[in-house]
Amino acid sequence: MPRPSAVDPGPGRAVSCALPFGRPTAVTPPPDASTPTPRGPADPSPPEPARETPQDTSQDAPRFPLQAVRGARDLLPAEAPAWQRLEAVCRALFARYGFSEIRTPIFEPTPLFARSIGQETDIVEKEMYTFPDKGGQSLSLRPEGTAGVIRAYLQHGLTGESLVRVYYLGPMFRHERPQAGRLRQFHQVGVEVIGSDRPAVDVEVLTLLADLFDELGVSGLTLEINAIGDRECRPAYVRLLAQALEALDDQLCANCRRRRTTNPLRVLDCKVPSCREATKDVPLMLGHLCKACDAHFSAVCAGLAALAIPYEINPRLVRGLDYYTRTAFEWTSPDLGAQNTVAAGGRYDRLVEDLGGPPRAGIGFALGIERLLLLLPEADAPRPDVYLALLGAEAEARMLPVLRALRRAGRSVERGFDVEASLKAQLKRANKARARFCLIVGENELAAGAALLKDMDGHAQREVAITGNAEAVAAEVAAVAGGGET
Ligand code: ATP
Ligand code: MG
Repeated sequence: MPRPSAVDPGPGRAVSCALPFGRPTAVTPPPDASTPTPRGPADPSPPEPARETPQDTSQDAPRFPLQAVRGARDLLPAEAPAWQRLEAVCRALFARYGFSEIRTPIFEPTPLFARSIGQETDIVEKEMYTFPDKGGQSLSLRPEGTAGVIRAYLQHGLTGESLVRVYYLGPMFRHERPQAGRLRQFHQVGVEVIGSDRPAVDVEVLTLLADLFDELGVSGLTLEINAIGDRECRPAYVRLLAQALEALDDQLCANCRRRRTTNPLRVLDCKVPSCREATKDVPLMLGHLCKACDAHFSAVCAGLAALAIPYEINPRLVRGLDYYTRTAFEWTSPDLGAQNTVAAGGRYDRLVEDLGGPPRAGIGFALGIERLLLLLPEADAPRPDVYLALLGAEAEARMLPVLRALRRAGRSVERGFDVEASLKAQLKRANKARARFCLIVGENELAAGAALLKDMDGHAQREVAITGNAEAVAAEVAAVAGGGET
């Protein structure tokens, strides 16, 4: 089958990691937090290591007995600008591609996930947070976003629209072993396109991701794609693979020995070197595609090549969720260590039907926000336009209406509440806040009827008349102090 050749993605660029997400640290857990998580007899995950991977906090911070749940992180104010920037770039780009936002609940009835993701998958078998609610219904915290989106699509009759393009952004939950790049509450941004099986849609979704990485300034990622067949060709291939694996049974790891009967495809992406060696010659899906799947894959490859989006064909790439068909893909980074997949996804042409809907093809991806943020430079907090240095209670009383008017006029204004602090101390705070201007009002300024407006970058200063008209004073300050961009 003629296929456009893979384009060399170019050498990876080393980037510095800005956030402390998931990095293993030498911090010893406090005595109270070292008690192992209670494990029920049905919990099949391996015992957890003694070493914690707590969120980095200042060395001097006191350790309180009440800690966040293992694998769940706080988003602290210093990290918020990076998250907000990422979210803003996603929202703006997705809107340009015609996507609307969808927000679904973070919990769903458990059978939704079992039926869509697949009973024999790691996620459903051992990673879900499942619990009965007070009425006895089994609920699960969502481990991924697609199932809920398709449920909402069916429940609200969106099947009537010829093409539905949505994106979501929010927390997901998986009971995995916390380590670098792996959390129990993590965040994904993802998109879904439902209603077309054309390869051009696959290309569009991959182009969107390539543009997202470009816009964020992330480079050195590799796009790996594969064709994993559909209901026409996959069952026969999986039987063939299972046969080949049976003959290799004694060379497989314990996990793969189990998987070769429950979910043989997953054996292909086992990371254990002896399994990789043992299975190096097993038949691969690419050689057993039906005509339609083959044509689809060639068209996707051709579309990517036409847009000069570099990709590599990885014939062993499979996904951990059963609903994928035809195109499967992952974006990996050489700068993330073992958990190197930043985004992953693929087609799910039968999922809507499997969940009781009409035949509708779909495709989507999910991107791990914490992992992506590790590849981005730290984002600065936005700079306030003005810092208001108030020296004394009278100055405070006179300036409160001006402060309010300035904020209502769209300027960001910081102030200290300790009006007895010295001018030097207040200027220090203005500097620390990285304010562009400092508006200084003390007894002398009140007596003279003019405040001092100091340019914190250029150090020039000018006077602003203090009158009884707060709006007019604010307008004069606002005209000088500009506003908005950082
Ligand atoms: P992995 O290779 O990490 O096991 P997966 O195949 O389980 O990934 P998907 O279900 O495809 O992952 O999720 C898409 C993306 O979500 C991943 O590529 C990763 O960036 C992120 N992700 C998945 N699980 C976690 C987790 N436990 N902690 C942090 N990020 C995660
Ligand atoms: Mg996983």
